[in-house]
Amino acid sequence: MDYDVIIVGAGAAGLMTAIIAAQGGLRVLLLEGQKKVGAKILMSGGTRCNVTNKAVSEKDYNSQQIIYVRNILRSFSNERVLQFFKDLGVELTLEPTGKYFPVTNSGKTVLDALLRQIKATGVTLLTEHKVRAVTKDQKGFIVKGDNFQFNAKNIVLTTGGLSYPTTGSDGTGYRLAQSFGHAMIETSPALTPLMTQDNDFKSLSGITMEVLLTLFINDKKQHSFRDSFLFTHVGFSGPSALDISRHWLRAEGKKQLTANFMGAYDENSLLTHLRHLQQESPHKTLKSFLVEFMPERLALLILKKSKLQGELTMDQLDRESRQRLIDKCVHYPLDVTGVLGYSKAEVTAGGIDWAQINPKTLESKLTPGLFFAGEIMDVDGRIGGFNFQWAWASGYTVGQALIKDRRST
Ligand SMILES: Cc1cc2nc3c(=O)[nH]c(=O)nc-3n(C[C@H](O)[C@H](O)[C@H](O)COP(=O)(O)OP(=O)(O)OC[C@H]3O[C@@H](n4cnc5c(N)ncnc54)[C@H](O)[C@@H]3O)c2cc1C
Repeated sequence: MDYDVIIVGAGAAGLMTAIIAAQGGLRVLLLEGQKKVGAKILMSGGTRCNVTNKAVSEKDYNSQQIIYVRNILRSFSNERVLQFFKDLGVELTLEPTGKYFPVTNSGKTVLDALLRQIKATGVTLLTEHKVRAVTKDQKGFIVKGDNFQFNAKNIVLTTGGLSYPTTGSDGTGYRLAQSFGHAMIETSPALTPLMTQDNDFKSLSGITMEVLLTLFINDKKQHSFRDSFLFTHVGFSGPSALDISRHWLRAEGKKQLTANFMGAYDENSLLTHLRHLQQESPHKTLKSFLVEFMPERLALLILKKSKLQGELTMDQLDRESRQRLIDKCVHYPLDVTGVLGYSKAEVTAGGIDWAQINPKTLESKLTPGLFFAGEIMDVDGRIGGFNFQWAWASGYTVGQALIKDRRST
């Protein structure tokens, strides 16, 4: 047998699995289809790499089996991730948003440290080795590519999902898993910008502000995200839009997305505030009121959609006009026509079904010795370092399971 384990895909999950397994004394081969490894680590967080978050729980993720996700996250917590990187010489700093970044503000620091550890632990890393097929006989797994073939006792699929396929994650991993009978939860792009045909918004391109987005499915409020929001020339982006994209896309039934541009105000508190202003500042214009909350270009659009003049003063605002204004300020309907898709998605929703995976070890229930970690699985997190946290925690879990397996044979 050439190796104890072959790991397919050298992204965050593959690198972590390889390091943990090799630290435990296993002979590890890490195969990567691309010329360079860890493309997503380098591009993540605007090239700053948001490694993890201050507070991680299963509530930050989506999956058919959220309790399994919770247990894996607990087995390698964010604190353990901080310690792991500290031991590799990577200092991480906490930002007010709860996100951890390397103090160097560079994903390269994270990738370089992982690669140093890959070398130090004796992992054999081969790039430009795209795996095309995996089979199993009595002796173990046979891994084949265009001009190579290797054998190993175990195999780990850490090939990622379908997001940003230019980085190498093109879905071959799903097909390899399916060739062993594994089922899939239907995939879709997640953390991807939203598109609109509404030309009024296009004139707002470049405006960024905090917005509360709410998704109604069949008129029922289902998902809300309050975070930074960006108007683009094709639609909406920024963390709140990215976070809601997978829910919008996967919603079944009538769906409506609304935006609240008024900070902490909701419909009731805004009504109280406006009534107060009508008493206390009767000559305040609607425009001067709105620009306290938002850039002028957006204020003008809200006035236009509310069919109100900006010069109108508070004392001229009748009950019905006030309600129209409130509606457009806190329940503005965003006419979303689609999402930008996998090419711009930070992550993939859905993936390999938990039904045929041991939730403690991440080993296949169908084919002993076959493991999964990272984005290939049916897990996707929200913005904030949660997807890397999943890659580190699931990679760690598989690494540990491999070491245990060797000890017990
Ligand atoms: C623009 C962008 C920004 C992001 N920012 C953040 C962030 O700041 N924080 C965060 O937590 N998450 C972020 N993410 C998400 C995060 O990068 C991913 O969730 C994470 O990288 C998934 O790790 P992975 O190892 O499972 O998969 P990947 O990183 O996709 O790695 C899979 C690897 O497998 C290789 N591979 C695929 N098929 C084969 C094959 N057949 N043979 C050999 N090799 C193969 C691929 O080339 C690739 O190198 C971002 C993603 C993107 C696209």
